[in-house]
Amino acid sequence: MMRFAVDRMLGRLAKWLRLLGYDAKYSNNLSGELFLALAEEGRILLTKNTWMKGKVTPDRLVFIRDNDPMVQLDEVIRLLGLKPEPRSFFTRCTLCNGLLESIESYNAYGIVPDYVWTAHDRFSRCMDCGKIYWPGSHLERSRKEINRLLGV
Ligand SMILES: [Zn+2]
Repeated sequence: MMRFAVDRMLGRLAKWLRLLGYDAKYSNNLSGELFLALAEEGRILLTKNTWMKGKVTPDRLVFIRDNDPMVQLDEVIRLLGLKPEPRSFFTRCTLCNGLLESIESYNAYGIVPDYVWTAHDRFSRCMDCGKIYWPGSHLERSRKEINRLLGV
């Protein structure tokens, strides 16, 4: 699976890539130099900054023009010929890029709001930051957006 580094101006695009299960490194306090170095880790750099042109090999750099995150995502998918895998959707933390693991519902008790805990029996937790996820309304909206975009 292709891995990405996402420019600080493209936070919402990073979120969408993570929702689809892509490893998308993003930090809003990463210097330009450190960002460029991520190409050497084998990541594709997604940026709006034209000064980066010529700083890394062209096949490691994608310039994003649009300001709408869904259009940006569509652009990345088409330009790089990505084939998002439905089984990878919602396997990654949108906050920190960590991988999610399923947890027993009692592990979410007292951490998520009570009305959420009583309404769901499936929870997962980010292995890096500990954030807990459940199939809530936000996820449902994201799923619809993804389906619309990918035509699945
Ligand atoms: Zn996390």
